[in-house]
Amino acid sequence: MQEVLRKLEQVQEIDLQINAILAKKAEFPKRLAEYEASIKASTAKFEEKKKVVDELEKNKRQQLGALELNEERAKRSQEKSEQIKTNQEFQAIQKELESLKKNSATIQDNANKVGEELAKQQKELGAIEAVLTEAKTKLDSESNKIASESGGLENELKRLQGLRVSAADGIDKRYLAAYEKTRLNRSGLGLANATGGSCKGCNMRIPPQIYNELQRGTELFTCPSCRRILVYKDAVRTNTPEATANG
Ligand SMILES: [Zn+2]
Repeated sequence: MQEVLRKLEQVQEIDLQINAILAKKAEFPKRLAEYEASIKASTAKFEEKKKVVDELEKNKRQQLGALELNEERAKRSQEKSEQIKTNQEFQAIQKELESLKKNSATIQDNANKVGEELAKQQKELGAIEAVLTEAKTKLDSESNKIASESGGLENELKRLQGLRVSAADGIDKRYLAAYEKTRLNRSGLGLANATGGSCKGCNMRIPPQIYNELQRGTELFTCPSCRRILVYKDAVRTNTPEATANG
């Protein structure tokens, strides 16, 4: 029985290392999620802001187009005014020129206002784009890091799985099954040390009769409270990793 327990301890040692690797692997998507969320949010903001900028650019083009048209008309009126013959015609064309000049000023004013707003929105668009680019860069670099870590982890996992097969070799199926069952129910630990009359897996006292039997090492015993397979250790020797007290 001592031999079986020693083998099971080896298996548990390997299982703990395998669990640590699996936990790291499970962290990978979480590590990317933050950047993916940031990219999604920034992309939505960017698209919204881009619409505003496009609209303002269109508006500015329209203002400048209107201004050009108005200037053309003013130029033609000016040319016409130079061939005026009557005073009445002269006054009419002066009035028209005055009105066109006013129009130009109004359009120019509008174009300036649109231009200012456009500059402001473009600056904000640039800031959003910078955030987006940064998030994309971070996502890429984190993805690359994960890809390289992942390769190492997979190799280590394969190595450990091989070791586990060798370690489990020769252990009676009943004992292995008992270990597996407890391990799955008890936060990864199927074995617990028994020292000083109590189970170190759950810190409960072990009935003296079982404890005595356990020390003799002729049979496999499980803790009456946490059901882990008990491995007797005297107070000095405690090589097996201990479970958390509440596990
Ligand atoms: Zn226990």
